[in-house]
Amino acid sequence: MFLHNKRLMYTVRVDEPNPNFAKLLLEQFGGANGELAAAMRYFTQAWNDPEAQRRGMLLDIATEELSHLEMVGQMLVLLLEGSPPAKVDEVEGSYLGKLMAGKGSLADLALNPGDAVLGAGGPRLTDSAGNPWTSAYVDTLGQPVADLHSDIAAEARAKIVYERLIKYTDDAGVSDTLNFLMTREVAHQKMFEAALAAIAEDFPPGTLQGDKKLGHAYIKDSSGGSGASEEGFEFAQANSKWEFELDPDPVANAADETVL
Ligand code: MN
Ligand code: MN
Repeated sequence: MFLHNKRLMYTVRVDEPNPNFAKLLLEQFGGANGELAAAMRYFTQAWNDPEAQRRGMLLDIATEELSHLEMVGQMLVLLLEGSPPAKVDEVEGSYLGKLMAGKGSLADLALNPGDAVLGAGGPRLTDSAGNPWTSAYVDTLGQPVADLHSDIAAEARAKIVYERLIKYTDDAGVSDTLNFLMTREVAHQKMFEAALAAIAEDFPPGTLQGDKKLGHAYIKDSSGGSGASEEGFEFAQANSKWEFELDPDPVANAADETVL
């Protein structure tokens, strides 16, 4: 059961309307790394998770992401206040009317031009380029180790998108609100890392171990110049306890029976 508590999770502050920034912020409303994608990722993943504590955590985080979506929606409304997109349906001075009379420009509609017709100029579930939200953003497989790695990466991406948005604004209220949202994604990343650490057998994911020699081979796929296989091998070897072995030549090792 969901209940809507009308108090926001954190006070949303926007000091000045800014339709151009609203367009960028749409990325966190209906974009690939946005709040709806995050909420749906954890909400659907939870149902397929046999472990009760992890399922509970996934549902808690999914619910918090919906609270973030609510905050981003409120920010978008405040950023668009008084702007042409907010005036689309007015009887007097309708922006679309002016546009038809040649007195305006589609470029003034800071959100995507289609939003003026289909969304009265307000936020729709698209990213900043107008691409519609899609469930393809959710890459859950139903295997906890693979999914938790993906969740950690999703939180890292969400954090970085907020960080970039903060760098694009000089509005103190917007910056404060975005900082709250960014910091919560840091907390979520840590929760998913904890959930992964709680799985004793987490490498390789799944139940089949694969071939031992192949799993350790660094195949020599390039030679000459910088970025040659030896450098890649040394880089991997120096930063891992996995103990790779440099496999000399993939061509020499290729099957000689099979001809395509
Ligand atoms: Mn979030
Ligand atoms: Mn998150």
